[in-house]
Amino acid sequence: MIGSNFCKLRAQVVVFLMFMAAAGSGHAALQQATASATPAAPSRADILRGAYGPYRVNNDLLSYHLDVRVDPEKQSISGKNSVRFKMLADGTRIQLDLHPALAVDKILLGATPLTYVRDSGAVFVDFPETLHAGQEYTIDFYYSGHPLQTARFGGFTFAKDPAGHPWIYTACEDIGASVWWPNKDQWRDEVENMQISVAIPNGLVDVSNGKFVGKTDLGDGYTRWDWLVQYPINNYDVSLNIGNYVHFSDQLGDLPLDFYVLPEDLDKAKKQFAQAKGMIEAYQHYFGEYPFQKDGYKLIEVPYSGMEHQSAVTYGNHFTNGYLGRDWTGVGVSPKFDFIIIHESGHEWFGNSVSAADRSDMWIHEGWTTYLEVLYVEYTFGHEDAIKYVNGYKPKVQNREPIIAERGIAATPPQDMYFKGALFLNTLRSVINDDPRWFALIHDFYQHFKYQNIMTEDVVAYFNQQTGMNLTPLFDQYLRHTAIPTLELKFNEAEGTVDYRWQADEPDFAMPIRAGKKTDWQIIQPTTYWQTMKTPLKKNEFDVATDLYFVNVSKQ
Ligand SMILES: [Zn+2]
Repeated sequence: MIGSNFCKLRAQVVVFLMFMAAAGSGHAALQQATASATPAAPSRADILRGAYGPYRVNNDLLSYHLDVRVDPEKQSISGKNSVRFKMLADGTRIQLDLHPALAVDKILLGATPLTYVRDSGAVFVDFPETLHAGQEYTIDFYYSGHPLQTARFGGFTFAKDPAGHPWIYTACEDIGASVWWPNKDQWRDEVENMQISVAIPNGLVDVSNGKFVGKTDLGDGYTRWDWLVQYPINNYDVSLNIGNYVHFSDQLGDLPLDFYVLPEDLDKAKKQFAQAKGMIEAYQHYFGEYPFQKDGYKLIEVPYSGMEHQSAVTYGNHFTNGYLGRDWTGVGVSPKFDFIIIHESGHEWFGNSVSAADRSDMWIHEGWTTYLEVLYVEYTFGHEDAIKYVNGYKPKVQNREPIIAERGIAATPPQDMYFKGALFLNTLRSVINDDPRWFALIHDFYQHFKYQNIMTEDVVAYFNQQTGMNLTPLFDQYLRHTAIPTLELKFNEAEGTVDYRWQADEPDFAMPIRAGKKTDWQIIQPTTYWQTMKTPLKKNEFDVATDLYFVNVSKQ
């Protein structure tokens, strides 16, 4: 996803500015103000949604079959989700979730109606007899109502296309998938596979995730569209896209490529969507096979910018390069490609295949995918453009709060997870200082964790183990603190020396960096303690490779 948390971010900025006013001004005050700014206490609803509580931890999802009917006239949805799960401990209760705007019609275990308790967005389902550890169960959760549209395009939206046909779509990463269908609405546990059946008025098309299985005329003016997801999937990736779509297809090796657009955009789409092949080739080059080979790759036109719905990426970038007509990083590289195709599809590798287990660690989705943009640029246009492109992200970095948010409360991390995340990974490449080794490392990292839900600790442990380095203070400095490290340099031109050290929050922060003469970098090994070295360079001649490392430099 891109940019959906801007509104929330603005609210945080206001709080921050109030702190600044109270704390005075200057850099020290800035660090102190951000460090001591504590967010409002999470609500009960945040905790119920965000925590991996006792009635979630006692079971493991196996599959969903979401079977719904969407009525564009009444702007309503009804149907059921059949939830198959394995108990991990004996118990009589599990937690599912459904937004309070929607009604629970009934919940059945076989033919037996189950009782339930609703609390905010949670639905605690109770069983008359103990469910046993190791056993598998299926319940049918029936629901109906008018799902919420939560923002310009968030939640579940009933809209019309320019020709007046219904155009109905979902995008729910922020509010959670339970805004429109009942599920275990958290990130840690994913189903192994899923069926999606969507009944809609004849003449419309539904595009959901996975492989198209077929459509069935229900004889009552509705047609059911059946889709099969053959891989683990995040709840928020599950999507409906209902419209007057036309379809065209292509192939990349054995991988089916399917495209769905409004009829009036067909010619433009055929030209613009040709970029999908080069994108997939680039990411396959770095990370290996497209993760959802059996399900295929799809691009689906929508009226919002785009979203990484698994194997069914939605696209609303106006069939032009850049991002919504802009040069996204402002350095002349972004207009060479379609930002939404490249970014949202990058999530197939990071976000959809490798997923975070808690929303707090969403940089695993967004920081990595923003770095994938950089790799796409490097593969397609060369290293020089890639360095220009990633450095073009620097003005967007705010350094106001850590990239990793509080766990267990469904908190949205700050926008820095995108840009600072990518700049950090570019920095890490320079620290490794061996490109073949770096590319092998990130390839193997992806392969090791594909189809899994992980936390930052897993990333750090993997990189430490594979490199034999202690990279923990680097990860922590960039992800768990607000400030980036500052390289302090004190020149003594009379003696021909320079003192150097890192100013960082992590006491053990030690990062090699290229410094000295631009045409002949020397790698120095600063720590948080002062060291001295000889240099023939004067203060104004002494450079630091700040395009390869995301750091501040202070010269005295
Ligand atoms: Zn994204």
